Amino acid sequence: MGTHLSRTVAQGLAVMNLIDGKQMEALSGKRIDVACPSDGKVFASIPASAVEDVDMAVQAARRAFDEGPWGRMPAVERGRCLTRLGLLIEQHGDELAALESRDTGKPIRQGRADVTATMRYYEFYGGAADKIHGDTIPFLDGYTALTLREPHGVVAGIIPWNYPLQILARVAGAALAMGNTLVVKPAEDASLSAVRIAELALEAGVPAGVFNVITGYGRDAGAALSAHPLVDYVTFTGSTATGTAIQQAAATNNRGVTMELGGKSPQIVFADADIEAALPVLVNAVIQNGGQTCSAGSRILIEQPVYERVASALADRFSKLVAGPHDADLDLGALINPMQKERVAGMVAAAEEAGVTLLARGTVASDAPSDGYYFAPALFGSVDPGQAIAQEEVFGPVLTVTPFGDEADAIRIANSTEYGLVAGVWTKDGARQHRVAKRVRAGQVFVNGYGAGGGIELPFGGFKKSGHGREKGFEALYDMSATKTVVFNHG
Ligand code: NAP
Ligand code: MG
Repeated sequence: MGTHLSRTVAQGLAVMNLIDGKQMEALSGKRIDVACPSDGKVFASIPASAVEDVDMAVQAARRAFDEGPWGRMPAVERGRCLTRLGLLIEQHGDELAALESRDTGKPIRQGRADVTATMRYYEFYGGAADKIHGDTIPFLDGYTALTLREPHGVVAGIIPWNYPLQILARVAGAALAMGNTLVVKPAEDASLSAVRIAELALEAGVPAGVFNVITGYGRDAGAALSAHPLVDYVTFTGSTATGTAIQQAAATNNRGVTMELGGKSPQIVFADADIEAALPVLVNAVIQNGGQTCSAGSRILIEQPVYERVASALADRFSKLVAGPHDADLDLGALINPMQKERVAGMVAAAEEAGVTLLARGTVASDAPSDGYYFAPALFGSVDPGQAIAQEEVFGPVLTVTPFGDEADAIRIANSTEYGLVAGVWTKDGARQHRVAKRVRAGQVFVNGYGAGGGIELPFGGFKKSGHGREKGFEALYDMSATKTVVFNHG
């Protein structure tokens, strides 16, 4: 079982669904080709699951929850399964990094960083499983009242293509630690690592039926999963539009949801900041993963007196950025698919047509395969904060810089988009650090640093259109469970 995927991927063969601990073809027999973004060549295929496959997976997860040992097992035992899964991920680190990097086009060092974070998620939630508990509540005389934290039941996880391993880990780690069972639908562009992780979970002792993966298109498999009446809770990471559709589907069954949607995260650079320390972080926050990161730092607001200095230093760095194949391990890889490349190129062209100044452009490596989905990074400035390119999520290697006058101006511009996921504040003024951190509407604020997607221990999620609910850290364990209040009348 455990060697199936590694063998098939090495030979460019077929990957299967994993339902109730068994490899399954889609009942229709239909498959989807999987191409590597670096060269556009097909190297694997996945089942094109439909309603009937989703139903089978949900039924398996339902049985595993209602009748299986998982929810009744002592929390410490569940935690040990997750800890073992983390160790197996570490042992298979090279294989998983190579697989993820090939499937998504990301540079191999990013694939390795993703594996390390993935291992940490299972380690963290393995350790946390038996450290979360309810309360006793002072109530009326003659009563004892307490709360239990109970799993929702069957959790549906709909996963995007940008960080497939990591995002699956933050969903599965928290959901499984609390005793839920899972049905996961990865993005059809990047499903391979999810199937592999579910195989390793079986090897780690997670019982069959607890961790199911079905691959296929969002409009078929994803839609059927989010509307399935036997699913108790839905967690989604991806675009705001798809998030709305999934919430509507979940609402037909009145199910709870966690929504981790897009962002247009600002980094605010004050004149007193340590600019040399900030520069590499400012660039990396939008170049990491080719800018295909929900928490990418995609807008930089710069205090007027240092605007020219910071903008020209960023332009210098941008002009030296090179995109190329994942195994060449350059500054960035290809974008995920031709549609995403078109979308990013279209937004950049629209900005240029609107008269926004292009300050600098990176390049694509001259020996990069011509059929890869490469896009040279683009830096715009100075950008009016109302421009579409400074308001809309690009999800590509595109950065805008905008000057601001004073602190109030910076906060107004920072809060002027529909999103509120992450923010960065660069200043040595301690009082200002606290003021700005409190006034910026974002789920995470970094002061003199930035962590696009980082920090297993740190609660993460959105304000406004960036979504609701919190993942990562202990908070995710609350999202992945419900409070039951029990009241004893003992006179
Ligand atoms: P998406 O539509 O949001 O896809 C995310 C996941 O939802 C995938 O597994 C997708 O499956 C699935 N899905 C799509 N339609 C569905 C539906 N009606 N019901 C249930 N599940 C559904 O993202 P995308 O189309 O691949 O990318 C478009 C844009 O989304 C990007 O340009 C970017 O702006 C944003 N995005 C954001 C994040 C983030 O982390 N915040 C991640 C990815 C994308 P399939 O892909 O297999 O169809
Ligand atoms: Mg897609």
